[in-house]
Amino acid sequence: MLIRLLPTLAALIISTALMAEAPKPLTDADLATAAELAKLVSENNPAYEIVESLTTEVGPRMAGTEQDALGVKWAIAKFNELGFDKVWTEPVTFLTWKRGEEHAVITSPYKQNIMITALGRSVATAPEGMSGEIVQFDTLDDLIKAEAGMVNGKIVFISKKMPRYKDGHGYGQTVTARSKGAIEAAKKGAKAIIIRSVGTDSDRLPHTGNMNYEDGVEKIPGAAISNPDADLLMNMLKRGKPVQFHMTLTAQKGEDYTSQNVIGEITGTDYPDEVILLGAHLDSWDLGTGAIDDGAGVGIVMAAAERIKALGKRPKRTIRVVLFANEEQGLYGGKAYANRHRAVLPTHIVGAESDFGAGVIYKMSTKFKPSAIPVAEQIMTVLAPLGVEYGANNARGGPDLIQSRMYGMAVVNLYQDGTDYFDYHHTANDTLDKIDPESLTQNVAVYTAFTYLMAQLEGDVGFFPPAE
Ligand code: ZN
Ligand code: ZN
Repeated sequence: MLIRLLPTLAALIISTALMAEAPKPLTDADLATAAELAKLVSENNPAYEIVESLTTEVGPRMAGTEQDALGVKWAIAKFNELGFDKVWTEPVTFLTWKRGEEHAVITSPYKQNIMITALGRSVATAPEGMSGEIVQFDTLDDLIKAEAGMVNGKIVFISKKMPRYKDGHGYGQTVTARSKGAIEAAKKGAKAIIIRSVGTDSDRLPHTGNMNYEDGVEKIPGAAISNPDADLLMNMLKRGKPVQFHMTLTAQKGEDYTSQNVIGEITGTDYPDEVILLGAHLDSWDLGTGAIDDGAGVGIVMAAAERIKALGKRPKRTIRVVLFANEEQGLYGGKAYANRHRAVLPTHIVGAESDFGAGVIYKMSTKFKPSAIPVAEQIMTVLAPLGVEYGANNARGGPDLIQSRMYGMAVVNLYQDGTDYFDYHHTANDTLDKIDPESLTQNVAVYTAFTYLMAQLEGDVGFFPPAE
């Protein structure tokens, strides 16, 4: 019991010491160097080459596939090639999933083929496929409120279209149909669920993404159809006749697999044991080449650390870039990292993750202790000329940092313009051409300046362990 508590206790003791003092203001020299770094990045940085290399030489790298392993090898080699001081891996274990074949057809009242993709971790239909009548709901809530029996033996269809916003908050409004739809549909006796893709485009490409099951609730197949096919299905339903749907999914569970978080460090001079954590996830879905999700993030954070090293003047603190394994199917890499490093998380001064494509960064939010807010204001003097405004002191960090943040790590969000991110997200259209090199460069400039300043800061910005 004591042994289990020790890391938490250590974290608490260190964090109490850290919390006591306000950090010193950043020096004019450091602020000038950060601005100079941003300028150098805009002239030259390796981010685009990195994403080009990853999407060309590895391509899709779904967790547990051969290309997952290839991605790990690629990342180790790339860190070394970029001159990182230390490069290593840490194991991340999970149960794999295989997509298999997928096709669908509306068989009546008008026979038409439909573009469909299985949701991640879905079970299969029977090998010869499954047929059923469609019962449509606008939202997951409508399904939850529906009378028992209404969907018995039928195929549920949730049709809500994701609205487009710069900050992507339409995703949160619609993704629950994907993540929880199969559970709610099965509770009511449905034999399968299809959803309108969680995406803002009008391409005839369905968007995949993870779905969940619940113990004690029957596991039914789940799939997404493209936006135009969801419209087509709605038009058929509008005519008031029963719509019969046939789909075949041969998805299946695989074996346990151990992938790796791949980590590269630029070692600090004065405080080598204190870490500025930059993250992105190395895995992707299998349909595209994983360019915007999250090849862009990989390029941005690797390039930011590399540019600081290239300055020739080492930072005081260590800059650690973590390329997380299997974000897509359940944040496995982020959780493994947080649990493995929990005892030393108080020495992680701040974390930032890039996982929202390559649109320009327009806002920085922090989660700092109040006495460190003046430092955020100083950082903003360097970021504002790059087009970034300050948001609020309510940052939640990226998906792979959730667990570390819950253990207490301070985080920032460097919010990207995601207006078109969900046009391509988790589709076969997530390819390199969707990345604008200029926007990517702005991202690297912002990450580089921010990271450098945090590495030079004397003092900390807080640690927020959970109340026990
Ligand atoms: Zn992602
Ligand atoms: Zn994703």
